[in-house]
Amino acid sequence: MTSRRSFIKTAALGAGVISTGQSLQSAVVENQHKSVPMNKPLVLSTWDFGLKANVDAWAILSAKGRALDAVEAGVKVAENDLHSLSVGLAGLPDREGHTTLDACIMDEHYNCGSVAFLEKIKNPISVARMVMEKTPHIMLVGSGAQQFALENGFTLDDYKNPEAQKAYEAWLVEKQYKPVINIENHDTIGMIAMDMQGNLSGACTTSGLAYKVRGRVGDSPIIGAGLYVDNEIGAATATGTGEEVIRIAGTHLVVELMRQKYSPYEACKEAVMRMVKIRKEKTKDFQVGFIALNKAGEFGAYCLQPGFNYAVFSNNIANELFKSDSYYPEQ
Ligand code: ASP
Repeated sequence: MTSRRSFIKTAALGAGVISTGQSLQSAVVENQHKSVPMNKPLVLSTWDFGLKANVDAWAILSAKGRALDAVEAGVKVAENDLHSLSVGLAGLPDREGHTTLDACIMDEHYNCGSVAFLEKIKNPISVARMVMEKTPHIMLVGSGAQQFALENGFTLDDYKNPEAQKAYEAWLVEKQYKPVINIENHDTIGMIAMDMQGNLSGACTTSGLAYKVRGRVGDSPIIGAGLYVDNEIGAATATGTGEEVIRIAGTHLVVELMRQKYSPYEACKEAVMRMVKIRKEKTKDFQVGFIALNKAGEFGAYCLQPGFNYAVFSNNIANELFKSDSYYPEQ
């Protein structure tokens, strides 16, 4: 018996509503204990903002487009959201008041591109793709990444989200650095997809931890940490405290576990268990979640703390939010 039995569905999430672009309700699908085999194409992305992002990705996938184009277009939806406090220019700033962006992208040929500590550029994911396609390098950072973007047709954007500004000013009163689990002081959009040709790609983009030390870079722009794609095996992406994901080369680990025949769900769980083994009690104080997809079109997720969810869109899943199993039980 598959876990489909325990789905909570909302009629409002039907394809008609999605195609007219009306509001996407957060119908949550109960724990996905087993991977469910899917038809191609398929896209999954982290958190509930993945629902909107999946719509743009799906438009490309369902028209027989390439997974790479789908994931870029998909995560751009979150980057362009002028209210998102954790992705793009609207994101919460570092402790000096500057929003700095990290992103990476990877295709079916092990091509990858990444930018980190990038400022005032609206779509870091597209800059990362340009690094992949136009340079012999994989990663550009800081002012060099910005210079590269400007030389390649991107423009400086001084947008400041008033909501983020207000939150920052409130934070300045005590200046405490205390990440709050599952609250929007961090939350990356990671997206992985399989196209009709069966090829995999992934993208990951974030403004990183709120009020971070200036210059801090998390896992999200690091290939093998925030994102990894091996077109022979599968793809995985991560969200949560980046330092903890980097420490175990999280998404590379998930993909290598899938190579050893772990299902996507088991692979994500094993990676979280590795974290628990290494970090022990400390895991109580942070969140990490992984989502994964294998070449058979099976998917799964696992996280440390309850509260992580992810959005799935395929021919037989009309953009639904799935609740991830967690290591720590719900209170
Ligand atoms: N992984 C991101 C970072 O550490 C933040 C997040 O996903 O919550 O920058």
